[in-house]
Amino acid sequence: MDTLRTLCPRYDVVIVGARCAGAATAMLLARAGLDVLLVDRQAYGTDTMSTHALMRAGVLQLSRWGLLPTVMAEATPAIRTTTFHYGGEEVSVKIKPEHGVEYLCAPRRTVLDRILVDAARGAGAEVRHGVSLIDLERGPGNRITGVRLQNGSGDPIVVGCDVVIGADGRLSRVAQLVQARTLLQSSSSSCCVYGYFEGLEQDGSHWHFVENAAAGVIPTNHGQHCVFASVPGPTFRTTFRGNIKRGFAEVLQANSRTLGEKVARARLVDRLRGFAGAPGHMRQSFGSGWALVGDAGYFKDPLTAHGITDALRDAELLASAVINGGPDRLSGYQTVRDALSRALFRITDSIASFQWNLEEVKELHAELSAAMKSETNHLVGLSQVPPLAA
Ligand SMILES: Cc1cc2nc3c(=O)[nH]c(=O)nc-3n(C[C@H](O)[C@H](O)[C@H](O)COP(=O)(O)OP(=O)(O)OC[C@H]3O[C@@H](n4cnc5c(N)ncnc54)[C@H](O)[C@@H]3O)c2cc1C
Repeated sequence: MDTLRTLCPRYDVVIVGARCAGAATAMLLARAGLDVLLVDRQAYGTDTMSTHALMRAGVLQLSRWGLLPTVMAEATPAIRTTTFHYGGEEVSVKIKPEHGVEYLCAPRRTVLDRILVDAARGAGAEVRHGVSLIDLERGPGNRITGVRLQNGSGDPIVVGCDVVIGADGRLSRVAQLVQARTLLQSSSSSCCVYGYFEGLEQDGSHWHFVENAAAGVIPTNHGQHCVFASVPGPTFRTTFRGNIKRGFAEVLQANSRTLGEKVARARLVDRLRGFAGAPGHMRQSFGSGWALVGDAGYFKDPLTAHGITDALRDAELLASAVINGGPDRLSGYQTVRDALSRALFRITDSIASFQWNLEEVKELHAELSAAMKSETNHLVGLSQVPPLAA
């Protein structure tokens, strides 16, 4: 059990949420010499509701931070081709070696989040799991000056800091407590059911699209494949409730008979998991003594598989703003985040609407690819600040 009383009474930065966004931000701030406390109410190394395909910018971040070899050493397969299936048409894309990224990958969250937390701790951050944020402390002018935390035994503690960072996910408590404004909201959402399979013969990752349904196969750790089946959010209940296995198999079959048959022959590890969908948002993500990063500040539909990449990108944008500008100069963080994200948000909303024909979704993917190139170029152009060598 975490003994909260051994915590210092004050840190430069307290980060709530120790997954991809929070742990990466903590690592970068700690590498730059700041005193950082990173807390999460869940346990170390646990899984979360998420498939985990990384886009080029996400892999680039892991590479720039020196963490990619550690991720790959955990039996994470290199993904060298991505194949899009539009009905019966196949478009196969080879991953071009560029900016030091030779392949994509999709590490399980039990692997990726743990490695990021270890890197944060290794850089000097104080990390506490099983600890929840209960409330924020406020000073003159309503400035956020600290956090009220509690462990599983109900022990409370108040910790002071210059900045509180909410990396606490889509339903962020920090965002609620500071009453962060919603700047943009999506108009559509998809839902999905996914699971892990052994014995599936598939090379590279595969993304299938037909009218009103999508599916995907993503190679992940230890020879397993993550397989998802997706339909418009409002149809979650009618598609999957009652018999999730049957609904899953039917959506795969609708996308591709071959895919449905291959998955039927493979062995499901554990169980299928369902996500009923949620609207996307872009929130005001900084204020007096606080900031939001990852899904807390900006969440979009999972159908474009870009949330972890966003989190790793924005962790560095925010960390740089804190290091270079200080707690009162975080507006630049949000300006850049929004400039890099608006197109991704709009395109994702269109894809998640399922209001397209196969030619239109192909065009949306071309636009998505252009937006992802811009974000990769932005990251490539960043100077190595904060100091990135461990
Ligand atoms: C079904 C699904 C599939 C997805 N597939 C992909 C994909 O293929 N590729 C991709 O890039 N993205 C994908 N995403 C999106 C991705 O999961 C998110 O963008 C990502 O998890 C965001 O990370 P985060 O660190 O911001 O927040 P989270 O991963 O949500 O972590 C937030 C953390 O905050 C902690 N927390 C919350 N409240 C408190 C509190 N009060 N006190 C203490 N701790 C707290 C939680 O315990 C949690 O550990 C998917 C999402 C879903 C739902």
